[in-house]
Amino acid sequence: MKQFRTILLFGAPGSGKGTQGRILGSIPNFYHFSCGELFRNLTPDTELGKIFLEYSSRGQLVPDEPTIRLWQHSIQVAEHDGRFNRKTDTLVLDGIPRNLQQAQMLKGLVKVRAVIYLWGTDINKLVARLQRRALRENRLDDANIKVIRERLQIYERETHPVLDYYGADLVEKIDSTQAPINVLRDILQALVKSAPSTVT
Ligand code: ADP
Repeated sequence: MKQFRTILLFGAPGSGKGTQGRILGSIPNFYHFSCGELFRNLTPDTELGKIFLEYSSRGQLVPDEPTIRLWQHSIQVAEHDGRFNRKTDTLVLDGIPRNLQQAQMLKGLVKVRAVIYLWGTDINKLVARLQRRALRENRLDDANIKVIRERLQIYERETHPVLDYYGADLVEKIDSTQAPINVLRDILQALVKSAPSTVT
């Protein structure tokens, strides 16, 4: 199977991956995939829906096996429905891979062209953003300060090392403390630079 041309959106919970990913996904030939959104759309009466609730309510990651399986299935469905075309489209991955194991499991499937690293937002701001989002988007995992702290810790411990896995050459550091429109400008500049063919 041909590998998917891929861009990773990377950053702590609350750093703005979802906001930017949705915008990128509206550009022709870009397909935004949010792993958290996919999980949240499961219904609690399914096996995986139950597993998701169990883990996410504690601020923890869903185990790698079912996560990668769900990812693969969702991409297959998107291809089948004509929403994603591996020949012409760039996959914008948001929230996956989340640890080294997932990065390794995705290895043969994705060809990562750039890692967009949204950095710089201090922890208090991230907490405040997540608490606002809890009300706006009705997200249980954002409502509890203990759960928020657990998620930020897991990000530091398990997700952050994924940057090293892909290596400095692929990583584009973007200051996420800027206004969203400026973050977007920087992301677009980085994408044009790192993979001109993705924006033709
Ligand atoms: P955030 O980026 O704010 O942490 P997400 O919407 O990306 O929020 O994820 C919400 C929850 O969904 C996570 O806390 C985790 O339980 C689960 N999740 C999302 N993506 C993954 C993944 N790649 N691997 C395991 N669990 C995931």
